[in-house]
Amino acid sequence: MIKKGMKLYSILFGACPKCHQESMYVEKNSYKLSETLKMHERCSHCNTKYQMEPSFFYGSMYVSYGVGIAFAVAAFIISHVIFDSSLITAFVAIVITLIGFMPVIMRLARNIWINLFMSYDKTAVKK
Ligand SMILES: [Zn+2]
Repeated sequence: MIKKGMKLYSILFGACPKCHQESMYVEKNSYKLSETLKMHERCSHCNTKYQMEPSFFYGSMYVSYGVGIAFAVAAFIISHVIFDSSLITAFVAIVITLIGFMPVIMRLARNIWINLFMSYDKTAVKK
């Protein structure tokens, strides 16, 4: 399934994009809202600096838009197509989904964003 060394592993679990040894985030639970975006400065295993330039993660807002659309489409399909709800109900379902999954969406966007620039390197820990 999803193992260390796959990009998907780092994206789904927020692991260090270089070595996949530890989480980039200080708090594991993304629903602790004051800590949602708090990240370690460097990986303690491979010393990769996550924020490679100032405001690096502002770019993840573009990704966040796409991820949000994906969640909205999923919510729409589940409520309107599967449960046959009205369009108004489907709209409410989309809004609730986007608000409810906001911490998850923000972290996913950051994980995808940083993984666009860094790749897994199995020799990273030894260096
Ligand atoms: Zn690392």
